[in-house]
Formats: sequence, structure tokens, C-alpha cells
Amino acid sequence: MHEFGYIVDNALSEQYDALLNRLRENLGKVATKSKVTRLEIPEPSVYWLGNKSVFRNFSDFPKILRRDAGHLLMFLAKELATAASQDGDRAIFIGRKDPQSFSVLINRYMTRYVICTVCGSPDTHPDKERRVQILVCEACGARSPTGQG
Ligand SMILES: [Zn+2]
Repeated sequence: MHEFGYIVDNALSEQYDALLNRLRENLGKVATKSKVTRLEIPEPSVYWLGNKSVFRNFSDFPKILRRDAGHLLMFLAKELATAASQDGDRAIFIGRKDPQSFSVLINRYMTRYVICTVCGSPDTHPDKERRVQILVCEACGARSPTGQG
């Protein structure tokens, strides 16, 4: 029993090491990418389920764009003039929406809320200045109002 437990522990710690190594590799890749200031945006995966549109990889987008998932969801719902809710990694929209329109809207969202208007860098974060929502660029330091374009 003791010996069995030991073997299992050993195998687990090997798996753990392998996992750590993989994580480190991925972290390295992310760091290199952000230096080139280019975001790799996946294709939105949207399918219809009854009278609903299911955006299957929704949660990838706020993660990549470093924005609040609720903010992006509200933006999409408003632009599509429908109701939306998040369900785990997916987002559900009422009505059969054109799957193509999701990539158009993601681009619009990036132009308005993510891309720096001065240098074009996506390395930005939102901030507030006298109750006005602004975009702070981590590449050039510009502070510009959001929601434009
Ligand atoms: Zn900038």
C-alpha cells in the first residue's frame, strides 16, 4: 500500500513537472507575442441552436483582449439588438445571427475599446478620468477616450 502510494506520487510529480515546463513554454510565447504588439484573434465559432445563436469560444476573446467579459457581451448584445447571456465559456444570443457578423463586431469592439488610437498598439487597459472612460496605452502612454469609431 505504501509502495503503491509512492509510485503514484512519483508519477504525479513527473506529470506536474511536465505541466510546469509546458506552462513555462507557453508563457515564453505570450511574452514574445506582446513584444511584437500583435494579438492573435481566433475566429469566432458561432452556430445556431433552435432560435438562438451560440458563440462557442466567446470566453477566449475577453481573455485575449484583457477586457471584462460582461462588457464585451453587453457590447455584442447591443450591436446585435438582442438579449445575450454567458453560459460557461459560451455566450448565447436570442435569434439566428449571422456568424460572420461576430468577427465584424469583435473588430469594432477592438477599434473602440482596445486599440490605441495614437500608435495602434493593442497593449492597453481601460481607466477612468473624471468619470470618463478612457484607454491607457502601455506602449506609448497615450490616454484617449474610448467608445469612438
Ligand atoms: Zn499607444
